[in-house]
Amino acid sequence: MRETKFIFITGGVLSSLGKGMAAASIGALLKARGLSVTIQKLDPYINVDPGTMNPTQHGEVFVTDDGAETDLDLGHYERYLGTSLSQNNNYTSGSIYYSVISKERRGDYLGGTVQVIPHITDEIKLAICGLAENDTDVAIIEIGGTVGDIESQPFLEAIRQLRGDLGRERCLFIHLTLVPYLAAAGEHKTKPTQHSVKELRSIGIHPDIILCRCETPVSRELKRKIALFCDVDEDAVFSSVDVDHVYRLPLEFYEEGLDQKVAIMLRLPARNADLANWQKLVYDLTHPEGKVTIGIVGKYVQLKEAYKSLHEALVHGGVANRVSVALKYVNSEDVTPDTVQDILSGLDGILVPGGFGERGVEGKILTVQHARENKIPFFGICLGLQCAVIEYARHVAGLKQANSEEFAPNTKHKVVYLMTEWFDPHKNAKALRTLDSDKGGTMRLGAYPCMVKEDSLAFAAYGKKLISERHRHRFEVNNEYRPALEEAGMIFSGLSPDGDLVEMVELKDHPWFLGCQFHPEFKSNPMAPHPLFRDFITAAKKQHGQE
Ligand code: GLN
Repeated sequence: MRETKFIFITGGVLSSLGKGMAAASIGALLKARGLSVTIQKLDPYINVDPGTMNPTQHGEVFVTDDGAETDLDLGHYERYLGTSLSQNNNYTSGSIYYSVISKERRGDYLGGTVQVIPHITDEIKLAICGLAENDTDVAIIEIGGTVGDIESQPFLEAIRQLRGDLGRERCLFIHLTLVPYLAAAGEHKTKPTQHSVKELRSIGIHPDIILCRCETPVSRELKRKIALFCDVDEDAVFSSVDVDHVYRLPLEFYEEGLDQKVAIMLRLPARNADLANWQKLVYDLTHPEGKVTIGIVGKYVQLKEAYKSLHEALVHGGVANRVSVALKYVNSEDVTPDTVQDILSGLDGILVPGGFGERGVEGKILTVQHARENKIPFFGICLGLQCAVIEYARHVAGLKQANSEEFAPNTKHKVVYLMTEWFDPHKNAKALRTLDSDKGGTMRLGAYPCMVKEDSLAFAAYGKKLISERHRHRFEVNNEYRPALEEAGMIFSGLSPDGDLVEMVELKDHPWFLGCQFHPEFKSNPMAPHPLFRDFITAAKKQHGQE
Protein backbone atom coordinates (compact mmCIF):
# COMPACT_ATOMS: atom_id res chain seq x y z
CA MET A 1 0.00 0.00 0.00
CA ARG A 2 1.23 3.46 -0.89
CA GLU A 3 1.32 6.10 1.79
CA THR A 4 -0.70 9.06 0.61
CA LYS A 5 1.03 12.42 1.06
CA PHE A 6 -1.04 15.49 1.92
CA ILE A 7 -0.70 19.05 0.67
CA PHE A 8 -2.70 21.63 2.61
CA ILE A 9 -3.35 24.94 0.90
CA THR A 10 -4.39 27.96 2.94
CA GLY A 11 -4.99 31.54 1.89
CA GLY A 12 -4.05 34.82 3.49
CA VAL A 13 -4.70 38.58 3.31
CA LEU A 14 -7.86 38.45 1.24
CA SER A 15 -10.17 36.13 -0.68
CA SER A 16 -10.35 35.67 -4.46
CA LEU A 17 -6.61 35.18 -4.83
CA GLY A 18 -7.23 32.15 -7.01
CA LYS A 19 -6.53 29.53 -4.39
CA GLY A 20 -8.73 26.98 -6.18
CA MET A 21 -6.94 27.53 -9.45
CA ALA A 22 -3.55 27.32 -7.73
CA ALA A 23 -4.54 24.08 -6.00
CA ALA A 24 -5.82 22.66 -9.28
CA SER A 25 -2.64 23.71 -11.12
CA ILE A 26 -0.41 22.07 -8.53
CA GLY A 27 -2.55 18.95 -8.91
CA ALA A 28 -2.17 19.08 -12.69
CA LEU A 29 1.62 19.35 -12.37
CA LEU A 30 1.86 16.41 -10.00
CA LYS A 31 -0.36 14.38 -12.29
CA ALA A 32 1.92 15.31 -15.19
CA ARG A 33 4.75 13.79 -13.13
CA GLY A 34 2.88 10.50 -13.27
CA LEU A 35 1.42 10.62 -9.77
CA SER A 36 -2.16 9.82 -8.84
CA VAL A 37 -3.69 12.91 -7.32
CA THR A 38 -6.95 13.74 -5.65
CA ILE A 39 -8.14 17.06 -4.34
CA GLN A 40 -10.63 18.30 -1.78
CA LYS A 41 -12.21 21.61 -0.81
CA LEU A 42 -13.15 22.38 2.80
CA ASP A 43 -15.52 25.32 2.97
CA PRO A 44 -15.94 27.16 6.25
CA TYR A 45 -19.54 28.33 5.74
CA ILE A 46 -22.47 26.84 7.66
CA ASN A 47 -24.63 25.81 4.68
CA VAL A 48 -24.62 22.02 4.46
CA ASP A 49 -23.86 22.35 0.76
CA PRO A 50 -23.98 25.26 -1.69
CA GLY A 51 -27.12 23.81 -3.34
CA THR A 52 -29.45 26.42 -1.92
CA MET A 53 -27.04 29.34 -2.17
CA ASN A 54 -27.67 32.21 -4.56
CA PRO A 55 -25.35 31.89 -7.57
CA THR A 56 -24.91 35.66 -7.73
CA GLN A 57 -23.37 35.54 -4.27
CA HIS A 58 -21.51 32.30 -4.29
CA GLY A 59 -21.00 31.50 -7.95
CA GLU A 60 -22.09 28.37 -9.74
CA VAL A 61 -23.11 25.21 -7.96
CA PHE A 62 -21.00 22.44 -9.45
CA VAL A 63 -22.58 18.98 -9.67
CA THR A 64 -20.66 15.71 -9.50
CA ASP A 65 -21.59 12.35 -11.03
CA ASP A 66 -22.85 11.10 -7.68
CA GLY A 67 -25.20 14.04 -7.41
CA ALA A 68 -23.38 16.22 -4.86
CA GLU A 69 -23.97 19.96 -5.16
CA THR A 70 -20.53 21.39 -4.58
CA ASP A 71 -18.36 24.46 -4.61
CA LEU A 72 -17.30 25.72 -8.02
CA ASP A 73 -13.67 24.98 -7.22
CA LEU A 74 -14.49 21.32 -7.83
CA GLY A 75 -15.10 22.34 -11.43
CA HIS A 76 -11.55 23.70 -11.63
CA TYR A 77 -10.23 20.52 -10.06
CA GLU A 78 -12.03 18.29 -12.56
CA ARG A 79 -10.96 20.42 -15.51
CA TYR A 80 -7.30 20.56 -14.48
CA LEU A 81 -7.01 16.97 -13.35
CA GLY A 82 -9.31 15.38 -15.92
CA THR A 83 -10.89 13.20 -13.23
CA SER A 84 -14.38 12.77 -11.92
CA LEU A 85 -14.81 13.79 -8.28
CA SER A 86 -17.53 12.96 -5.77
CA GLN A 87 -19.25 14.18 -2.63
CA ASN A 88 -16.14 13.19 -0.65
CA ASN A 89 -14.23 15.97 -2.34
CA ASN A 90 -16.18 18.82 -0.76
CA TYR A 91 -17.16 19.38 2.87
CA THR A 92 -18.53 22.48 4.55
CA SER A 93 -18.61 23.41 8.23
CA GLY A 94 -22.33 22.80 7.93
CA SER A 95 -21.89 19.24 6.70
CA ILE A 96 -19.29 18.50 9.38
CA TYR A 97 -21.50 19.86 12.18
CA TYR A 98 -24.53 18.09 10.70
CA SER A 99 -22.76 14.80 10.93
CA VAL A 100 -21.50 15.42 14.49
CA ILE A 101 -24.93 16.57 15.66
CA SER A 102 -26.57 13.51 14.08
CA LYS A 103 -24.12 11.27 15.94
CA GLU A 104 -24.83 13.13 19.16
CA ARG A 105 -28.60 12.68 18.68
CA ARG A 106 -28.06 8.96 18.06
CA GLY A 107 -26.17 8.75 21.33
CA ASP A 108 -22.86 7.83 19.74
CA TYR A 109 -20.92 10.00 22.15
CA LEU A 110 -22.25 8.08 25.16
CA GLY A 111 -23.24 11.14 27.14
CA GLY A 112 -19.95 12.94 26.69
CA THR A 113 -19.78 16.69 26.14
CA VAL A 114 -19.49 17.32 22.42
CA GLN A 115 -16.91 20.00 21.60
CA VAL A 116 -15.12 21.64 18.69
CA ILE A 117 -11.93 19.95 19.85
CA PRO A 118 -11.91 16.95 19.58
CA HIS A 119 -15.29 16.11 18.03
CA ILE A 120 -15.52 18.61 15.19
CA THR A 121 -11.81 18.39 14.44
CA ASP A 122 -11.97 14.57 14.47
CA GLU A 123 -14.84 14.69 11.99
CA ILE A 124 -12.78 16.98 9.74
CA LYS A 125 -9.80 14.67 9.97
CA LEU A 126 -12.03 11.76 9.03
CA ALA A 127 -13.24 13.67 5.96
CA ILE A 128 -9.66 14.42 4.92
CA CYS A 129 -8.29 10.94 5.53
CA GLY A 130 -11.29 9.39 3.78
CA LEU A 131 -9.72 10.71 0.57
CA ALA A 132 -6.60 8.64 0.88
CA GLU A 133 -7.29 5.46 -1.03
CA ASN A 134 -4.71 2.79 -1.68
CA ASP A 135 -3.75 4.15 -5.04
CA THR A 136 -3.61 7.85 -4.17
CA ASP A 137 -0.10 9.34 -4.11
CA VAL A 138 -1.07 12.87 -3.20
CA ALA A 139 -4.21 14.40 -1.71
CA ILE A 140 -4.45 18.18 -2.01
CA ILE A 141 -6.70 19.85 0.57
CA GLU A 142 -7.76 23.43 -0.04
CA ILE A 143 -9.08 25.27 3.00
CA GLY A 144 -11.62 27.88 1.91
CA GLY A 145 -11.66 31.39 3.34
CA THR A 146 -8.78 33.40 4.70
CA VAL A 147 -6.53 32.66 7.66
CA GLY A 148 -7.80 34.71 10.58
CA ASP A 149 -11.50 34.12 9.85
CA ILE A 150 -13.38 32.75 12.84
CA GLU A 151 -15.10 30.16 10.66
CA SER A 152 -12.00 28.47 9.31
CA GLN A 153 -10.36 27.87 12.68
CA PRO A 154 -11.60 24.30 13.26
CA PHE A 155 -10.30 23.31 9.82
CA LEU A 156 -6.90 24.86 10.50
CA GLU A 157 -6.74 23.18 13.90
CA ALA A 158 -7.61 19.84 12.28
CA ILE A 159 -4.82 20.08 9.70
CA ARG A 160 -2.40 21.17 12.41
CA GLN A 161 -3.26 18.02 14.35
CA LEU A 162 -2.96 15.89 11.21
CA ARG A 163 0.66 16.88 10.80
CA GLY A 164 1.29 15.18 14.14
CA ASP A 165 -1.00 12.22 13.44
CA LEU A 166 0.41 11.44 9.99
CA GLY A 167 3.97 12.61 10.48
CA ARG A 168 5.70 15.71 9.18
CA GLU A 169 7.14 13.91 6.17
CA ARG A 170 3.66 13.18 4.83
CA CYS A 171 2.33 16.75 5.12
CA LEU A 172 3.14 19.95 3.27
CA PHE A 173 1.66 23.36 3.99
CA ILE A 174 1.39 25.88 1.17
CA HIS A 175 0.21 29.38 1.98
CA LEU A 176 -1.11 31.59 -0.81
CA THR A 177 -0.88 35.28 -0.04
CA LEU A 178 -1.04 38.65 -1.75
CA VAL A 179 2.06 40.65 -2.58
CA PRO A 180 0.61 43.94 -3.81
CA TYR A 181 2.50 46.26 -6.09
CA LEU A 182 2.31 49.88 -5.00
CA ALA A 183 2.67 51.97 -8.12
CA ALA A 184 3.34 55.18 -6.16
CA ALA A 185 6.25 53.58 -4.31
CA GLY A 186 7.26 51.57 -7.37
CA GLU A 187 7.65 48.35 -5.39
CA HIS A 188 6.07 45.14 -4.19
CA LYS A 189 5.01 45.11 -0.55
CA THR A 190 5.61 42.12 1.71
CA LYS A 191 4.03 43.31 4.95
CA PRO A 192 0.59 41.74 4.34
CA THR A 193 2.34 38.42 3.72
CA GLN A 194 4.38 38.74 6.90
CA HIS A 195 1.23 39.41 8.93
CA SER A 196 -0.72 36.60 7.41
CA VAL A 197 2.08 34.08 8.02
CA LYS A 198 2.35 35.35 11.58
CA GLU A 199 -1.36 34.68 11.99
CA LEU A 200 -0.93 31.18 10.63
CA ARG A 201 2.01 30.46 12.92
CA SER A 202 0.05 31.71 15.92
CA ILE A 203 -2.29 28.76 15.44
CA GLY A 204 0.59 26.36 15.12
CA ILE A 205 0.94 26.00 11.37
CA HIS A 206 4.28 26.76 9.86
CA PRO A 207 4.07 27.10 6.07
CA ASP A 208 6.61 25.13 4.03
CA ILE A 209 5.97 27.02 0.81
CA ILE A 210 4.73 30.55 0.24
CA LEU A 211 2.97 31.33 -2.99
CA CYS A 212 2.80 35.06 -3.71
CA ARG A 213 -0.09 36.26 -5.81
CA CYS A 214 1.25 39.26 -7.69
CA GLU A 215 0.75 41.27 -10.85
CA THR A 216 4.33 40.79 -11.99
CA PRO A 217 6.90 38.22 -10.80
CA VAL A 218 8.42 38.85 -7.38
CA SER A 219 12.19 39.47 -7.55
CA ARG A 220 14.84 37.15 -6.06
CA GLU A 221 15.66 39.80 -3.50
CA LEU A 222 12.09 40.11 -2.37
CA LYS A 223 11.70 36.35 -2.16
CA ARG A 224 14.78 36.34 0.09
CA LYS A 225 13.15 38.94 2.31
CA ILE A 226 9.89 36.99 2.55
CA ALA A 227 11.85 33.82 3.32
CA LEU A 228 13.72 35.58 6.10
CA PHE A 229 10.68 37.16 7.73
CA CYS A 230 8.43 34.14 7.34
CA ASP A 231 11.06 31.53 8.17
CA VAL A 232 10.84 29.40 5.05
CA ASP A 233 13.55 28.18 2.65
CA GLU A 234 14.69 30.81 0.21
CA ASP A 235 13.78 28.56 -2.70
CA ALA A 236 10.34 27.91 -1.21
CA VAL A 237 8.89 31.33 -2.12
CA PHE A 238 7.13 31.39 -5.48
CA SER A 239 5.25 33.88 -7.62
CA SER A 240 1.73 33.26 -8.77
CA VAL A 241 1.42 35.93 -11.43
CA ASP A 242 -1.67 37.18 -13.20
CA VAL A 243 -2.01 35.19 -16.43
CA ASP A 244 -3.74 35.88 -19.73
CA HIS A 245 -5.31 32.41 -19.78
CA VAL A 246 -6.04 30.43 -16.65
CA TYR A 247 -4.70 27.29 -18.29
CA ARG A 248 -1.26 28.89 -18.40
CA LEU A 249 -0.93 28.66 -14.63
CA PRO A 250 0.48 25.09 -14.49
CA LEU A 251 3.15 26.13 -17.01
CA GLU A 252 4.02 29.24 -14.97
CA PHE A 253 4.34 27.19 -11.78
CA TYR A 254 6.51 24.70 -13.62
CA GLU A 255 8.80 27.48 -14.87
CA GLU A 256 9.19 28.64 -11.28
CA GLY A 257 10.05 25.11 -10.19
CA LEU A 258 7.12 24.76 -7.81
CA ASP A 259 6.36 21.11 -8.53
CA GLN A 260 10.06 20.29 -8.16
CA LYS A 261 10.14 21.84 -4.69
CA VAL A 262 6.93 20.07 -3.67
CA ALA A 263 8.34 16.76 -4.89
CA ILE A 264 11.58 17.24 -2.98
CA MET A 265 9.87 18.29 0.24
CA LEU A 266 7.40 15.40 0.13
CA ARG A 267 9.98 12.92 -1.19
CA LEU A 268 7.88 12.11 -4.24
CA PRO A 269 9.40 10.13 -7.12
CA ALA A 270 11.59 12.48 -9.15
CA ARG A 271 10.08 12.31 -12.59
CA ASN A 272 9.93 15.39 -14.73
CA ALA A 273 6.46 16.70 -15.55
CA ASP A 274 5.29 16.00 -19.09
CA LEU A 275 3.43 19.15 -20.02
CA ALA A 276 3.17 18.71 -23.80
CA ASN A 277 -0.65 18.76 -23.70
CA TRP A 278 -0.70 21.94 -21.58
CA GLN A 279 1.75 23.63 -23.92
CA LYS A 280 -0.39 22.70 -26.91
CA LEU A 281 -3.52 23.94 -25.15
CA VAL A 282 -1.99 27.33 -24.38
CA TYR A 283 -0.63 27.58 -27.92
CA ASP A 284 -4.09 26.90 -29.35
CA LEU A 285 -5.68 29.41 -26.99
CA THR A 286 -3.25 32.13 -27.93
CA HIS A 287 -3.22 31.43 -31.69
CA PRO A 288 -6.86 31.31 -32.76
CA GLU A 289 -7.62 31.42 -36.46
CA GLY A 290 -10.91 33.24 -36.05
CA LYS A 291 -13.44 34.50 -33.59
CA VAL A 292 -17.07 33.86 -32.77
CA THR A 293 -19.39 35.81 -30.52
CA ILE A 294 -21.83 33.90 -28.35
CA GLY A 295 -24.67 35.49 -26.42
CA ILE A 296 -25.53 33.98 -23.04
CA VAL A 297 -29.03 35.06 -22.16
CA GLY A 298 -29.61 34.38 -18.50
CA LYS A 299 -30.43 35.74 -15.10
CA TYR A 300 -27.20 35.70 -13.13
CA VAL A 301 -25.21 37.84 -15.54
CA GLN A 302 -23.83 40.28 -12.95
CA LEU A 303 -21.44 37.69 -11.54
CA LYS A 304 -19.48 35.80 -14.19
CA GLU A 305 -18.62 33.10 -11.63
CA ALA A 306 -22.29 32.09 -11.72
CA TYR A 307 -21.69 30.52 -15.14
CA LYS A 308 -18.12 29.37 -14.57
CA SER A 309 -18.28 25.89 -16.10
CA LEU A 310 -20.38 27.17 -18.98
CA HIS A 311 -17.82 29.84 -19.72
CA GLU A 312 -15.01 27.28 -19.66
CA ALA A 313 -16.91 24.77 -21.79
CA LEU A 314 -17.43 27.45 -24.46
CA VAL A 315 -13.72 28.25 -24.37
CA HIS A 316 -12.99 24.52 -24.79
CA GLY A 317 -15.39 24.43 -27.75
CA GLY A 318 -13.39 27.32 -29.21
CA VAL A 319 -10.12 25.43 -28.76
CA ALA A 320 -11.60 22.45 -30.62
CA ASN A 321 -12.49 24.78 -33.50
CA ARG A 322 -9.36 26.96 -33.35
CA VAL A 323 -11.40 30.11 -32.72
CA SER A 324 -11.54 32.47 -29.80
CA VAL A 325 -14.94 32.76 -28.19
CA ALA A 326 -16.15 36.19 -27.16
CA LEU A 327 -19.01 36.01 -24.68
CA LYS A 328 -21.77 38.56 -24.42
CA TYR A 329 -23.76 38.18 -21.22
CA VAL A 330 -27.32 39.42 -21.61
CA ASN A 331 -29.82 39.86 -18.80
CA SER A 332 -32.92 38.10 -20.08
CA GLU A 333 -35.12 40.67 -18.31
CA ASP A 334 -33.85 43.22 -20.83
CA VAL A 335 -35.06 41.14 -23.76
CA THR A 336 -38.52 42.33 -24.82
CA PRO A 337 -40.34 42.38 -28.18
CA ASP A 338 -39.02 45.93 -28.64
CA THR A 339 -35.40 45.22 -27.79
CA VAL A 340 -34.84 41.65 -28.96
CA GLN A 341 -33.54 42.49 -32.45
CA ASP A 342 -31.13 45.06 -31.14
CA ILE A 343 -29.82 43.16 -28.15
CA LEU A 344 -29.28 39.91 -30.00
CA SER A 345 -27.80 41.35 -33.18
CA GLY A 346 -24.30 40.39 -34.24
CA LEU A 347 -24.28 37.09 -32.39
CA ASP A 348 -22.96 33.93 -34.08
CA GLY A 349 -24.64 31.68 -31.54
CA ILE A 350 -27.11 32.03 -28.70
CA LEU A 351 -27.14 30.04 -25.48
CA VAL A 352 -29.86 29.98 -22.85
CA PRO A 353 -28.37 28.44 -19.70
CA GLY A 354 -29.92 26.78 -16.68
CA GLY A 355 -31.79 28.75 -14.06
CA PHE A 356 -34.51 28.76 -11.47
CA GLY A 357 -37.56 30.93 -10.92
CA GLU A 358 -39.86 32.96 -13.10
CA ARG A 359 -37.91 36.18 -13.36
CA GLY A 360 -36.68 36.82 -16.89
CA VAL A 361 -38.22 33.67 -18.36
CA GLU A 362 -40.32 35.44 -20.98
CA GLY A 363 -37.15 37.13 -22.24
CA LYS A 364 -35.53 33.73 -22.59
CA ILE A 365 -38.52 32.35 -24.51
CA LEU A 366 -38.35 35.37 -26.81
CA THR A 367 -34.65 34.70 -27.26
CA VAL A 368 -35.35 31.13 -28.36
CA GLN A 369 -37.94 32.36 -30.83
CA HIS A 370 -35.44 34.85 -32.23
CA ALA A 371 -32.76 32.16 -32.65
CA ARG A 372 -35.20 29.70 -34.18
CA GLU A 373 -36.77 32.11 -36.65
CA ASN A 374 -33.54 33.82 -37.65
CA LYS A 375 -31.71 30.50 -37.91
CA ILE A 376 -28.98 31.42 -35.45
CA PRO A 377 -27.23 28.42 -33.83
CA PHE A 378 -29.00 27.80 -30.54
CA PHE A 379 -28.00 25.82 -27.48
CA GLY A 380 -30.47 25.50 -24.59
CA ILE A 381 -29.29 23.99 -21.35
CA CYS A 382 -31.72 22.69 -18.71
CA LEU A 383 -34.05 25.67 -18.29
CA GLY A 384 -32.87 26.56 -21.81
CA LEU A 385 -34.36 23.29 -23.12
CA GLN A 386 -37.55 23.94 -21.17
CA CYS A 387 -37.83 27.42 -22.74
CA ALA A 388 -37.28 25.91 -26.19
CA VAL A 389 -40.10 23.43 -25.62
CA ILE A 390 -42.44 26.15 -24.34
CA GLU A 391 -41.60 28.42 -27.26
CA TYR A 392 -42.19 25.68 -29.84
CA ALA A 393 -45.44 24.63 -28.20
CA ARG A 394 -46.73 28.20 -28.18
CA HIS A 395 -45.66 29.37 -31.60
CA VAL A 396 -45.53 26.24 -33.75
CA ALA A 397 -47.74 23.60 -32.11
CA GLY A 398 -50.48 26.14 -31.44
CA LEU A 399 -50.63 25.63 -27.66
CA LYS A 400 -50.85 29.31 -26.83
CA GLN A 401 -50.94 28.87 -23.08
CA ALA A 402 -47.96 26.54 -22.99
CA ASN A 403 -45.75 27.11 -19.97
CA SER A 404 -43.88 25.36 -17.19
CA GLU A 405 -45.57 24.40 -13.96
CA GLU A 406 -42.71 26.22 -12.26
CA PHE A 407 -43.85 29.60 -13.60
CA ALA A 408 -47.57 29.14 -14.20
CA PRO A 409 -48.93 26.34 -11.97
CA ASN A 410 -52.48 26.78 -13.24
CA THR A 411 -51.88 27.12 -16.95
CA LYS A 412 -53.85 24.95 -19.35
CA HIS A 413 -50.84 23.47 -21.12
CA LYS A 414 -48.14 22.46 -18.71
CA VAL A 415 -45.68 21.28 -21.34
CA VAL A 416 -43.01 21.26 -18.63
CA TYR A 417 -44.17 19.92 -15.30
CA LEU A 418 -43.25 18.24 -12.08
CA MET A 419 -43.08 14.50 -12.64
CA THR A 420 -43.80 13.35 -9.13
CA GLU A 421 -43.05 9.67 -9.65
CA TRP A 422 -40.11 8.67 -11.72
CA PHE A 423 -37.63 5.87 -11.93
CA ASP A 424 -34.40 6.71 -10.14
CA PRO A 425 -31.61 4.41 -11.34
CA HIS A 426 -29.40 5.63 -8.48
CA LYS A 427 -31.81 4.07 -6.04
CA ASN A 428 -33.14 1.47 -8.48
CA ALA A 429 -36.68 2.34 -7.52
CA LYS A 430 -39.49 4.75 -8.10
CA ALA A 431 -38.61 8.04 -6.48
CA LEU A 432 -40.81 10.90 -5.38
CA ARG A 433 -40.35 14.53 -6.18
CA THR A 434 -42.38 17.21 -4.47
CA LEU A 435 -42.71 20.95 -4.54
CA ASP A 436 -42.39 21.28 -0.79
CA SER A 437 -40.24 23.82 0.95
CA ASP A 438 -37.27 21.54 1.48
CA LYS A 439 -35.57 22.75 -1.66
CA GLY A 440 -32.45 20.82 -0.77
CA GLY A 441 -33.85 17.40 -1.45
CA THR A 442 -36.25 17.38 -4.35
CA MET A 443 -34.14 17.54 -7.47
CA ARG A 444 -32.91 15.11 -10.07
CA LEU A 445 -29.23 15.35 -9.34
CA GLY A 446 -26.08 13.81 -10.76
CA ALA A 447 -25.35 11.43 -13.61
CA TYR A 448 -28.13 9.73 -15.55
CA PRO A 449 -27.93 7.61 -18.70
CA CYS A 450 -29.45 8.85 -21.93
CA MET A 451 -30.15 7.07 -25.21
CA VAL A 452 -29.32 9.13 -28.26
CA LYS A 453 -31.38 8.82 -31.43
CA GLU A 454 -29.36 8.04 -34.54
CA ASP A 455 -29.46 10.53 -37.36
CA SER A 456 -29.55 13.56 -35.08
CA LEU A 457 -27.30 16.47 -34.12
CA ALA A 458 -26.81 14.75 -30.78
CA PHE A 459 -25.62 11.52 -32.40
CA ALA A 460 -23.38 13.46 -34.77
CA ALA A 461 -21.79 15.07 -31.69
CA TYR A 462 -21.42 12.08 -29.36
CA GLY A 463 -20.96 9.39 -32.00
CA LYS A 464 -22.58 6.84 -29.73
CA LYS A 465 -26.00 5.82 -28.51
CA LEU A 466 -25.59 5.54 -24.76
CA ILE A 467 -24.25 8.56 -22.92
CA SER A 468 -24.23 9.79 -19.33
CA GLU A 469 -24.64 13.40 -18.27
CA ARG A 470 -25.18 15.33 -15.04
CA HIS A 471 -28.49 16.80 -13.99
CA ARG A 472 -29.74 19.44 -11.58
CA HIS A 473 -33.40 20.24 -12.01
CA ARG A 474 -36.85 19.55 -10.72
CA PHE A 475 -39.11 19.78 -13.78
CA GLU A 476 -39.41 17.60 -16.90
CA VAL A 477 -40.97 17.74 -20.34
CA ASN A 478 -44.57 16.56 -20.03
CA ASN A 479 -44.96 13.29 -21.97
CA GLU A 480 -48.61 14.08 -22.70
CA TYR A 481 -47.51 16.78 -25.12
CA ARG A 482 -44.80 14.80 -26.86
CA PRO A 483 -47.02 13.63 -29.78
CA ALA A 484 -48.25 17.17 -30.49
CA LEU A 485 -44.74 18.61 -30.36
CA GLU A 486 -43.37 15.82 -32.54
CA GLU A 487 -46.13 16.33 -35.04
CA ALA A 488 -45.23 20.00 -35.18
CA GLY A 489 -41.63 19.05 -36.02
CA MET A 490 -39.75 18.88 -32.72
CA ILE A 491 -37.34 15.94 -32.49
CA PHE A 492 -36.74 14.22 -29.16
CA SER A 493 -33.21 13.10 -29.86
CA GLY A 494 -32.29 12.00 -26.35
CA LEU A 495 -34.45 10.01 -23.91
CA SER A 496 -33.85 8.17 -20.66
CA PRO A 497 -33.34 4.43 -21.41
CA ASP A 498 -36.91 3.66 -20.30
CA GLY A 499 -38.15 6.36 -22.68
CA ASP A 500 -39.89 8.24 -19.87
CA LEU A 501 -37.77 11.38 -19.61
CA VAL A 502 -36.92 13.79 -22.40
CA GLU A 503 -33.20 14.54 -22.31
CA MET A 504 -32.59 16.28 -25.65
CA VAL A 505 -34.66 18.12 -28.23
CA GLU A 506 -33.71 19.49 -31.63
CA LEU A 507 -35.15 21.03 -34.76
CA LYS A 508 -34.68 20.31 -38.44
CA ASP A 509 -34.31 23.05 -41.05
CA HIS A 510 -32.09 25.03 -38.78
CA PRO A 511 -28.29 25.28 -38.79
CA TRP A 512 -27.97 23.93 -35.22
CA PHE A 513 -30.75 23.97 -32.65
CA LEU A 514 -30.38 21.72 -29.63
CA GLY A 515 -31.66 21.70 -26.06
CA CYS A 516 -30.56 19.34 -23.33
CA GLN A 517 -32.11 18.75 -19.93
CA PHE A 518 -28.72 17.99 -18.40
CA HIS A 519 -25.68 20.21 -17.85
CA PRO A 520 -22.98 19.17 -20.33
CA GLU A 521 -20.75 22.05 -19.18
CA PHE A 522 -19.86 20.10 -16.02
CA LYS A 523 -18.10 17.43 -18.05
CA SER A 524 -16.18 19.57 -20.50
CA ASN A 525 -12.44 19.51 -20.21
CA PRO A 526 -9.78 21.65 -21.90
CA MET A 527 -8.03 18.47 -23.06
CA ALA A 528 -11.33 16.90 -24.17
CA PRO A 529 -13.85 19.59 -25.13
CA HIS A 530 -17.44 18.47 -24.74
CA PRO A 531 -18.89 17.30 -28.09
CA LEU A 532 -22.02 19.46 -27.81
CA PHE A 533 -20.02 22.61 -27.11
CA ARG A 534 -17.60 21.67 -29.88
CA ASP A 535 -20.41 21.30 -32.41
CA PHE A 536 -22.25 24.40 -31.21
CA ILE A 537 -19.11 26.47 -31.80
CA THR A 538 -18.59 24.78 -35.19
CA ALA A 539 -22.09 25.93 -36.13
CA ALA A 540 -21.36 29.44 -34.80
CA LYS A 541 -18.16 29.51 -36.84
CA LYS A 542 -20.15 28.67 -39.98
CA GLN A 543 -22.69 31.31 -39.07
CA HIS A 544 -19.91 33.86 -38.67
CA GLY A 545 -18.51 32.99 -42.11
CA GLN A 546 -21.87 33.56 -43.69
CA GLU A 547 -22.17 37.10 -42.50
N1 GLN B 1 -35.85 25.46 -13.00
C1 GLN B 1 -35.80 24.33 -13.86
C2 GLN B 1 -36.10 23.04 -13.09
O1 GLN B 1 -35.99 23.01 -11.92
C3 GLN B 1 -34.47 24.23 -14.57
C4 GLN B 1 -33.32 24.01 -13.66
C5 GLN B 1 -32.00 24.27 -14.30
O2 GLN B 1 -31.93 24.94 -15.32
N2 GLN B 1 -30.92 23.81 -13.71
O3 GLN B 1 -36.42 22.04 -13.68
